[in-house]
Amino acid sequence: MTIIDGKKVSEEIQNEIAAEVQKIKSAGKKIPHLAAILVGNDGASETYVGGKVKACEKVGFVSTLVRMPDITSEKELLDKIAELNNDKDIDGFIVQLPLPKHINEQKVTEAIDPKKDVDGFHPANVGRMALNLPTYLPATPYGIIQLLERYKIETAGKNCVVIGRSHIVGLPMSILMVRNSNPGNCTVTITHSKTKNLKELCLQADIIIAALGKAEFLTADHVKQGAVIIDVGITRVKSDKTKTGWKLLGDVKYDEVAPKCSFITPVPGGVGPMTITSLMMNTLKACRREIY
Ligand code: NAP
Repeated sequence: MTIIDGKKVSEEIQNEIAAEVQKIKSAGKKIPHLAAILVGNDGASETYVGGKVKACEKVGFVSTLVRMPDITSEKELLDKIAELNNDKDIDGFIVQLPLPKHINEQKVTEAIDPKKDVDGFHPANVGRMALNLPTYLPATPYGIIQLLERYKIETAGKNCVVIGRSHIVGLPMSILMVRNSNPGNCTVTITHSKTKNLKELCLQADIIIAALGKAEFLTADHVKQGAVIIDVGITRVKSDKTKTGWKLLGDVKYDEVAPKCSFITPVPGGVGPMTITSLMMNTLKACRREIY
C-alpha cells in the first residue's frame, strides 16, 4: 500500500512554479498576478484566502487581496469584477465563496471573464473541460489529477466511483476521469445522496473518489482489495487528544480501509495541500496565455 503524499507533491509543484517565475523575471517578462475578492469576514474564507496569498508569495507571484464589507451589494461586487476583468495587470482572479446570502453566486461566477477565471467555475470553462479543450480546471479535481499522474496510477479502463456531485468537486472530477486522456479513460459511476446501492457500486470500483463531506463514511466493507482511494472530505471534529481540541477527518475510515488499498490519500496531507497549488498552476497558465 502506498500513501499518496499530497504535501510533498504540492511542494514539488510549487518549487517548479517558483523556478518558472525566476525564468520569467530574468527574461524581463511580466510576473504572474493573482487577485482575490473577499466579501465579508467569514473565518474559514479568511483562512483560505490567506493561504492563497501566502502561496503567491512563496512562488513569487504578485497578489492583490480586495476586501469588501459584507453589506456590499450585488451591483458593487459586479462592478468590482468588471474592473478586474479590464485590469491588464491582473492575469487571473477569484471571488472567494461562499458569498453573503443577498448576492447571487451564479451571477457573480458568470460575470468573471472566462480568460481570467482561474477557479475554472465559469460555464464556458466547465463546457471546455467537458469537451476536453484546454481550460482552467477547478482546483481540487485538478489537484487530484496531478496526484494520479505523479504517482503513475493507471486509470485507463478502470471502474471509478465518484461519491458526490457538487459543482466544485464531484461533478468535474467525474468528467475528468471519463475524458479521453491520461489520467482519464475510466468507466465512471457518479453517485449522490439518492443513490440506492452505493456499497455494491463501490465494491466494483478500482478507484473510489470520496467527496461527500461525511466523516469516516467509507468503511472497509465498501472497498475491494487493491483499490485506489482518493479522500477529498474534510470534517473538523472535537478531539481530546490534540492541543487544539479538534482534528480533521476524511470521508474514509482510514485505519481499516488503508490495509486493503494499493494507493490512498490521507487526511490531512493528501488532496488538501494540492488545491491551492492548482490555483497557482492556473494563474501561471493565465499569465502565459496558454488557454485563451
Ligand atoms: P457538497 O457540496 O456538500 O456536496 C456533497 C455531495 O455528496 C452531494 O452531491 C451529495 O449528494 C453527496 N452526498 C451526501 N451524502 C451522501 C451519501 N450518504 N451518499 C452518497 N452521496 C452523498 O460538498 P463539496 O463541496 O463537494 O465537498 C465535499 C467534501 O470535500 C467536504 O468535506 C469538503 O470540506 C471537502 N473539500 C475538500 C477540498 C480539499 O481541498 N481537500 C476542497 C473542496 C471540498 P446530493 O447532491 O444528492 O445532495
